[in-house]
Amino acid sequence: MIGLLRGMRLFVNNSAMVVVGSGPAGVSAAEAFRRHDSDTPVSILTADPALPYARPPLSKEFLRGETDDIALHPAEWYAERRIDLVHTRVERIDPGGHVVIADGQRFAYSSLILACGSAPVPLPVPGGERAYQLRALADAQRLRDGSSDADSAVVIGAGFIGCEAAASLARRGVSVTLVAPNAVPQDNRLGAEAGERLRRLVVSSGARYVGGVAVEAVDEGSVRLDNGVTINCDLVLAATGVRPQSGLAEDAGLNTADSRVVVDANMRTSVPDVFAIGDVASAINTTAGRRINVEHWQDAVDHGEIAGAVAAGQDAKWDGVPGFWTTIGDATVKYHAWGDGYDSTRLIDHQDGFTAWYERGGTAVGVLTCNADDNYERGETLIKNKRRLST
Ligand SMILES: Cc1cc2nc3c(=O)[nH]c(=O)nc-3n(C[C@H](O)[C@H](O)[C@H](O)COP(=O)(O)OP(=O)(O)OC[C@H]3O[C@@H](n4cnc5c(N)ncnc54)[C@H](O)[C@@H]3O)c2cc1C
Repeated sequence: MIGLLRGMRLFVNNSAMVVVGSGPAGVSAAEAFRRHDSDTPVSILTADPALPYARPPLSKEFLRGETDDIALHPAEWYAERRIDLVHTRVERIDPGGHVVIADGQRFAYSSLILACGSAPVPLPVPGGERAYQLRALADAQRLRDGSSDADSAVVIGAGFIGCEAAASLARRGVSVTLVAPNAVPQDNRLGAEAGERLRRLVVSSGARYVGGVAVEAVDEGSVRLDNGVTINCDLVLAATGVRPQSGLAEDAGLNTADSRVVVDANMRTSVPDVFAIGDVASAINTTAGRRINVEHWQDAVDHGEIAGAVAAGQDAKWDGVPGFWTTIGDATVKYHAWGDGYDSTRLIDHQDGFTAWYERGGTAVGVLTCNADDNYERGETLIKNKRRLST
């Protein structure tokens, strides 16, 4: 039934699956739902104007200009599965009425999956708006275009995206300085020794690493640091962290914690027929036995498969050990971990790489490897089975 209500177009279907967000979580949820339910209409509502694409290459191959081929699927893939891609920003959810409102249109749902992901945190210093950000394809395109005639760049923030982008820009021949408050990248998260190995990867890719500094201002053509140093540059990238996009859920009264939507191991929120997945969700992992927050590509896909299956009446729960791969210059670093802390760590250097092991309470909780795939795989098993490290 389609009708008009107070000037709004009303799309009512007694049975409809609506997904908000076209990242890996949203697309895999739609795909999984369709696999289990061939009849119910499925729509993905997305604020991104592009055909759904892979984000990991945006700071790597795409930024280096090596590929433009990052679409997750061709347009026909969605048509063949009768998954409607609707490019619109959802403004509000009305869980009582089982409706989402986007750009004056109302989309009724029988099941709603929120896969709104994260957005970059704006750089909170004078002139911060001068810095590029890197989340969406449009951001990456702007950064790539801007870097094509840049001789020098400052990358702010030494998380994985900052390290990857600094290495990629350096590979393009740009003179790059990566600045961060940490003495070495991510020492607070991964430990000083692992951080030092990441610093070496950044430096061996051709970028300079300046740790222990904060940015005070971004001026026209330069970045001012709090140690009195000013770095002249043609381009500034702020890779200073992301914030989950949980505003829609909060406004609709769903339970949230730390800006994430609280869900169970089936990805169900506190409200009937509403699921949340990917970066925006804080989900119970049954193997960990607790809530785990992740911002990784594969885990977003896994969440989507679970939510899509459960919404279609199947039984599925999140029990995998989270993990991701990252590429800094030529080196690929692989990580499996619950990611919520450790009390001891041991780093072992190999001939052309390293393994960092993490334990808590006497059992394995994480492994970070570079050119040590056996340890990466063994680490997953040890973490999953809550075993001690015996290396
Ligand atoms: C440059 C870059 C490199 C990365 N590299 C890696 C990597 O190497 N390995 C790895 O594991 N992870 C990597 N990540 C992280 C990974 O991409 C994310 O964890 C993953 O994309 C999260 O998926 P998601 O579906 O939850 O959210 P997202 O991919 O963020 O998608 C969210 C979607 O929701 C839409 N949306 C938000 N609000 C609304 C609204 N109100 N209405 C409609 N649509 C809305 C957005 O437009 C977007 O389409 C990288 C991320 C970036 C940015």
